[in-house]
Amino acid sequence: MKETITTTRRRFLRQSAAAATGLLLAPGIIGCGGKSAATATAAAPASAPEKNRKLGIALLGLGSYAKGQIAPSLQFTQHCQLAGIITGSPEKIPEWQSSYGIKDENVYTYDNLEEIADNPEIDVIYVITPTATHKDFAVRAAKAGKHVWCEKPMAMTPQDCQAIIDACAENNVRLSIGYRMLHEPNTQSLIELTKQQAYGKITEATAEAGYAGSDPPTDYWRGQRAMGGGALYDMGVYTVNGLRYGTQMSPLAVLEARQERPTEVDVTTEYVLEYANGLRARGWTSVVEDNNRLRIEAERGWYELSPLQSYGGVKGETSDGKLLGPAISGKQQTLQMDNDALAILNDSPVRAPGSMGKDDIRVIRAVIESAETGKRVVI
Ligand code: NAD
Repeated sequence: MKETITTTRRRFLRQSAAAATGLLLAPGIIGCGGKSAATATAAAPASAPEKNRKLGIALLGLGSYAKGQIAPSLQFTQHCQLAGIITGSPEKIPEWQSSYGIKDENVYTYDNLEEIADNPEIDVIYVITPTATHKDFAVRAAKAGKHVWCEKPMAMTPQDCQAIIDACAENNVRLSIGYRMLHEPNTQSLIELTKQQAYGKITEATAEAGYAGSDPPTDYWRGQRAMGGGALYDMGVYTVNGLRYGTQMSPLAVLEARQERPTEVDVTTEYVLEYANGLRARGWTSVVEDNNRLRIEAERGWYELSPLQSYGGVKGETSDGKLLGPAISGKQQTLQMDNDALAILNDSPVRAPGSMGKDDIRVIRAVIESAETGKRVVI
């Protein structure tokens, strides 16, 4: 962990400037916008942004997803701009500043994150850190008066998810979970088929999300149970969420589950969900084996997404030969962030609210309990 760093390039720059003008001698005026960190923590609720301006996004956590997908996707958004970064790794700061023109005053560390409350150029904090850290970072972001986008899976427990939901409500900021598939057009078309019961009542549903990687190393968070590692949290959440949008129902119970755990985390998990109308759905997820699809069987035919959750190439098909589409030219994450920004600008509902993220974590916990006890577990 690198969160204990207290001196950053930004703080250094700010203090140098302050020292040059003699301000360093005056207590309490070094913080951003001329206020001290103490006053910054008592954040005012986020004011409604002007509708025709781009929202300023600050990325919290500059790991592989932030660097490889989110930051590049932000460059193509219409309603967002990458305005700030919040990191525990100061050595990453120069590269990010030069790649994206991020100003010194928009660079924060995990230690001085609260000072962002006074920064009018930041509207949203996007939490992209290991799953077990989402709760604390998201709650701090909300308390700083910034809208919160939180990566999947939302948090470790339903209680942690609720803490995020409560913090956002109390601070009058919006919350959205980074379920990019809910912004993908083939996926939206499949959801419409279910909503319209286009092929009659659903008789079977299967969701699979896995890739043929190797066992996650135990010195990395993806190999650590307490950090949210393992197949079920990381990849399985796509199957849990896929079955939710694919059936448009919430499961009542986990009928049975099985986990393969060579170390402290699962590398493959299988489970069966039960629904109020008697439907049983199967989920499968793995970080050591390939498979990726969502298939819905109904009374008069089937429809599916294959792959279910890849970054590109998602294809929807039906039993009568229809392709769902449309294909997208850009990145799913660009659509996701523009939709989430519009929800803030227009004060309209988000596609992936905190309640959905929490419901999925309840299912994940029940799958684990069922695998460990060998029993049916009511969700
Ligand atoms: P990563 O390991 O590449 O990066 C994690 C980042 O968090 C690093 O910069 C690390 O320094 C930082 N960090 C902050 N606190 C930390 C702590 N206590 N321990 C370790 N690192 C800490 O991981 P990633 O692949 O970027 O994943 C980050 C989040 O994004 C996860 O929640 C993951 O599920 C999610 N994610 C989502 C998608 C998607 O398609 N929606 C894809 C990949 C990852």
